[in-house]
Amino acid sequence: MSMWDKNKVGCILLDKKLAQPFNKGAKRTHKPAWDELKCTKCGLCYLFCPDAAIKEKADGFFTSDADYCKGCGVCARECWFGAITMVEES
Ligand code: SF4
Ligand code: SF4
Repeated sequence: MSMWDKNKVGCILLDKKLAQPFNKGAKRTHKPAWDELKCTKCGLCYLFCPDAAIKEKADGFFTSDADYCKGCGVCARECWFGAITMVEES
């Protein structure tokens, strides 16, 4: 019986190119919207996004990549500062 730390990591996309064939953006009903007045640039949203769909902008704030974001809302849930709101896809 193998120990847990010997198992390969599963269910995590370490590279957003791996999500490309799934075209998750096409099925999204909601998308994250950032309030940069509330954002502290802590990067938690970037770390927690299960699809590696959040990218850091040149100014240090974050945004989602519409091709890879599936609209799950994890980023909004994990942001301690309420800087992300899920809004309906237009
Ligand atoms: S988790 Fe919230 S405060 Fe931190 S970088 Fe993301 S949006 Fe900004
Ligand atoms: S809604 Fe989900 S997939 Fe989209 S950026 Fe936030 S955590 Fe990532």
